Amino acid sequence: MGSMGNKGNRGAGPSDAGLRKAGPRSGTPRVVVVGLASCFGCQLQITNNEKHLLEVLGQFDLTYWQLLSSAPMPEDFDVAIIEGAVTTEESVQVLAELRAKAQVVIALGACANTAGIPGIAAKGFCGRPAEVYSTLPSVCGDLIAPRSVTSVIEVDYQVPCCPIDPSEFLEVLSKAFYGSNRPLTEKTMCGDCKRNETGCFYPQQELCLGLVTRAGCGARCVKVGRPCSGCRGISPEANLASARESVVRYGLAAEGFDAALELFNQTNPLLQGKD
Ligand code: SF4
Ligand code: SF4
Ligand code: SF4
Repeated sequence: MGSMGNKGNRGAGPSDAGLRKAGPRSGTPRVVVVGLASCFGCQLQITNNEKHLLEVLGQFDLTYWQLLSSAPMPEDFDVAIIEGAVTTEESVQVLAELRAKAQVVIALGACANTAGIPGIAAKGFCGRPAEVYSTLPSVCGDLIAPRSVTSVIEVDYQVPCCPIDPSEFLEVLSKAFYGSNRPLTEKTMCGDCKRNETGCFYPQQELCLGLVTRAGCGARCVKVGRPCSGCRGISPEANLASARESVVRYGLAAEGFDAALELFNQTNPLLQGKD
């Protein structure tokens, strides 16, 4: 597993408060949307909230959106929205430039926040390219083990999930424009289940990662009858040791629980430390 730490979320504390506080460098906030190693699914999700998106579109200047345009990245902007994991040295450089230029950086989706799906390849990464290529094509760039955006630069706001919830994205975007001291919750998912009165999978001996996964999606998978697969990432408040004990108490294997967690948390030091 990777050993990357987390540079953190600058919006997590009460002191940061978006563009309105700092003021965009000129009139309307200029926004860029950049995709790193991703399936572009989270960028696509942004378009899946047309009605509300149209309502907010007039409030900012969408200067650059990689999904829609091959125009070069502009020199100046206020907000950088970044989707995808970091898998090349070139991407590390891009992140440093985005961080230096933007007043507000938003990490979009599981890949950007936890390394997500690209992160599955992080373990033993260095030997992997040679299993496929005798000579690595230059178009691959200078490959590095996949890691999250949040482990490389500080971000101001996070929109977790795979894919993102478009409504949560718009909520975060308005926090970025108008300021908010409300951080992402650090609670785990089970409280949402209780409020939804959906019951729990464990008495049926089915694994559910909501035990240790950061709440905030309203336990949307459990609501439709599927266990949580952990796409919001391990909550900082999660007690992994106690969760494993619960898993075993319900007749399931702790190893299976850890293996399932790797889907979205492969590079998370908490999982690496197994504590
Ligand atoms: S978080 Fe999921 S939907 Fe979003 S870019 Fe990554 S793999 Fe695609
Ligand atoms: S373990 Fe899963 S199903 Fe059970 S209460 Fe927690 S989130 Fe809900
Ligand atoms: S319930 Fe779990 S897997 Fe489903 S969206 Fe929420 S965090 Fe992701």
